[in-house]
Order: sequence, then structure tokens, then C-alpha cells
Amino acid sequence: MAHLKYETLLNYLENRLSVEERSEVDAHLVGPCQRCHRRLILLRAVLDSVTNDRTVAPPTAVLKLAVELRQGRYPQPKFWNRVIAVLSFDSHLQLSSAATRGGTTRTRQMLFTAEQVDIDLKIKPGREDHELLGQVLDIRQSTGFLPAFVSLQNNEGQQRATETDSLGQFAFHGITSGTYDLVFDLDDQEIAITGLEFQDE
Ligand SMILES: [Zn+2]
Repeated sequence: MAHLKYETLLNYLENRLSVEERSEVDAHLVGPCQRCHRRLILLRAVLDSVTNDRTVAPPTAVLKLAVELRQGRYPQPKFWNRVIAVLSFDSHLQLSSAATRGGTTRTRQMLFTAEQVDIDLKIKPGREDHELLGQVLDIRQSTGFLPAFVSLQNNEGQQRATETDSLGQFAFHGITSGTYDLVFDLDDQEIAITGLEFQDE
């Protein structure tokens, strides 16, 4: 069985799967699959963060899972290696050329590199409603597109997550102003972009 999709894990946590689908997910997790287990923990944190925002009690399925995780029903994730991506291009640092072109676009473009990947980011600023578009490119392969689980967390602990599509692309909408860490969970490592600023226009 292939790794569990973001959508599947989310439905699992929110108790929206059929009995059969649910037992398939359980079987995969106790496989054991550390990658999917790690992603499940991350998603649960995302859901908890959203739940806390709304000051509403978490769904019973999430509570049940939290208890099960504490009881060690699933294998604990191994030590995880995090790599910090390095900024290699930032359109905000190219002000003179943008000014001479008289460009009307305020979209900020950035390129980050890590050991094995290039990460392309576009930030479209708004008023407390920023947009982040990106693409993860695997520089080791000619095919280039890499499946990754992407999470965005601000310093107040608000967390959101998504998954790259078949072209390695992902998007977050309606981001409030602040400083964020963007983390990519790849098969064999975790890549972080820290201190990403989203400021009002
Ligand atoms: Zn898996």
C-alpha cells in the first residue's frame, strides 16, 4: 500500500472514513510506517491548533487518538534530521531592477536551496490575508517533482498543513501577518525555512 495521503489522514483524524478505510489506515500505521505516523502527529497538532483558535473541544476521535498515541499503540518516530534551507534569491533584494522596469507586481519571489531540493516561493501580500505559493524541486532527479508534506507555523503556535501536488506545488491562502516557519517533510529528511515574514502592504 502506498503512503497515506494528506486527505486520508485528515479524514482519519476527523472520523470520516468507512470502517474498511479506517482499518486499512490502522494496518498501514502499525506496519509500522514511521513517515505516516509522523505526519499523523503533525496533522493532529494542526487540528489541535485550529481547535484551540475556536476554543471548542476537539472531536472525540482526536482525543481518542491522542490517548492511543500516549499509550504507545503506534511506534514512536525515530530521531528526525532537520535541514535549514538557505535563501539564494529574493526579489525584495533586487529593488533597483524592479524600479527601473516600473513593475506593478508586489509579489515577492524567493528561491531557497537545501541539500537535495530547490524551493520556489511566491508571497502575494494582502491586508491580513496573504497568499503563499510554492514548488519543491528535487535537484537529484530529472523528473524533478517531489512529494512533500508541508506545514506552516507562526510563533503563536498556529499551524496549518498541506501536501504538494504531482508537480511539487502547494499553496496556503488567508495567511495572517506575522513570522512563520515553513517545514517540508520529505521521505528521508525534513527541510525548514525559518523566519518567513508576512507583512501588510
Ligand atoms: Zn506510510
